[in-house]
Amino acid sequence: MATKDIRKAQQPVTEEVAHVLRTLGVPDSSWRNGTRPVRSPITGEVVAHVAEASARDVAHAVDRSIAAFEAWRTVPAPRRGELVRLLGEELRAHKAELGRLVTLEAGKIVSEGLGEVQEMIDICDFAVGLSRQLYGLTIASERPGHRMMESWHPVGPVGIITAFNFPVAVWSWNAALALVCGDSVLWKPSEKTPLTALAVQALFERAAVAFGGAPEGLSQLLVGGAEVGAALTDDTRVPVISATGSTRMGRIVGERVARRFGRSILELGGNNAAIVCPSADLDLALRGIAFAAMGTAGQRCTTLRRLIVNEGVYETLIPRLARAYGSVGIGDPREAGTLIGPLIDAAAYEGMQKALAEARAAGARIHGGERVLAAEWPDAYYVRPALVEIDSQIDIVKHETFAPILYVLRCAGLPEAIKLHNAVPQGLSSSIFTNDLREAETFLSAEGSDCGIANVNIGPSGAEIGGAFGGEKETGGGRESGSDAWKAYMRRATNTINYSRALPLAQGVSFDID
Ligand code: NAD
Repeated sequence: MATKDIRKAQQPVTEEVAHVLRTLGVPDSSWRNGTRPVRSPITGEVVAHVAEASARDVAHAVDRSIAAFEAWRTVPAPRRGELVRLLGEELRAHKAELGRLVTLEAGKIVSEGLGEVQEMIDICDFAVGLSRQLYGLTIASERPGHRMMESWHPVGPVGIITAFNFPVAVWSWNAALALVCGDSVLWKPSEKTPLTALAVQALFERAAVAFGGAPEGLSQLLVGGAEVGAALTDDTRVPVISATGSTRMGRIVGERVARRFGRSILELGGNNAAIVCPSADLDLALRGIAFAAMGTAGQRCTTLRRLIVNEGVYETLIPRLARAYGSVGIGDPREAGTLIGPLIDAAAYEGMQKALAEARAAGARIHGGERVLAAEWPDAYYVRPALVEIDSQIDIVKHETFAPILYVLRCAGLPEAIKLHNAVPQGLSSSIFTNDLREAETFLSAEGSDCGIANVNIGPSGAEIGGAFGGEKETGGGRESGSDAWKAYMRRATNTINYSRALPLAQGVSFDID
């Protein structure tokens, strides 16, 4: 397969990282002399050394977070919204630099780096409105002279553990809501992307100064690896842990939080599919599939990983898709025209090759998948996206490989397509391409997609912040971002108020004393 356009880096990465960090107001002391090296996936070079938190630092941060929570919970929610509004203003003012840092540290192409910051701005706007809408219900009481209602109260410090692939947006989905809900937040970013987290923390601190009177330690950053996340997970004083990452991580975190009766919001791996029906607009489907499967180099939780194509359109669609795969621009994500940047690291590349070898051994026809630009950057991992035609949904297809591999399966009709679609352990995002109303509605119905996100005539990736985001089964069941996801960051109290002079008991129980 010929690749039209492989692009090379033009500018040194390390200098640019230093420049952007300084522009964003990140102190040199936090990224120059620490113990943990940070690599840019663009060239694989080490661009910084960050300081790491110890278990004692985590405990101390929780102490501060509790003190901050106790002050913050008494601030009226609309006033709390003002802090989030100011954070949104900082993000607007620094969108270009922060988006650039996302590109430099996570390897996203420029428009996706900027898009990630836009998502942060959008959730801030959403949370500002929400700060005046933390509504509870009024409930009819069965007792005369009584009123029932629900109140929503701040719950306490919220621990936020995030993945490398949305290094800043996922924090904001959680933090913007938690802050207007009256909680303090503690953020353990991915060890692969601490620099963007340092930059966001600097912007938060500016917003806090502009706000005036935000408690010390309201939002804190804990840089480090899994052990820092584990210390946060095990701290009984942190009532909510929101953890985004692999199913492997979620299984550990979910169990540990449950053991201490904490609440966890789990946003884990996906294995997202799209069904293409005979009536589909194939031009539109092709564009939707290309972005969902190849965008972000296949490193989105919502990346399209399985394409289930009706046999009536298979021979028309797949050769066109293979051509699109062959002509996509791969290389330095900072370059105009690049659509596919690097994988995050060597382990991601090895995982991809292992999956392709398994598929090959099972008789799959593979287009692409090989490494490119290895001579120029031996420590960076660029790959051609892989299109894998396979006869059945073997084990490797049911597994999330976090790389640009799209498995293509043939099907005879919608019932078979839905069966294949749902026959994986994960349940994040899904879509159908069809112009048939019955097929679209069936896919969205109770007997259709079993995922947390189900779309018609768009791919499974690229969600808006207004909806609740998350998935079922091994994706963890958590919901973040829009709709009523805020409820997970508060505690609910049911209140019964007796304004009569009598004391009737519920269910007609009598208990009269003289
Ligand atoms: P990862 O699981 O390796 O790491 C995620 C975070 O968990 C990191 O901060 C890591 O340090 C921390 N961690 C790891 N082990 C831990 C432990 N035992 N205790 C506490 N913390 C621990 O994931 P990754 O490679 O950074 O990200 C890719 C994965 O994230 C993919 O599976 C992807 O689907 C998933 N993801 C899911 C969503 C979603 O909303 N569902 C969003 C983004 C990414």
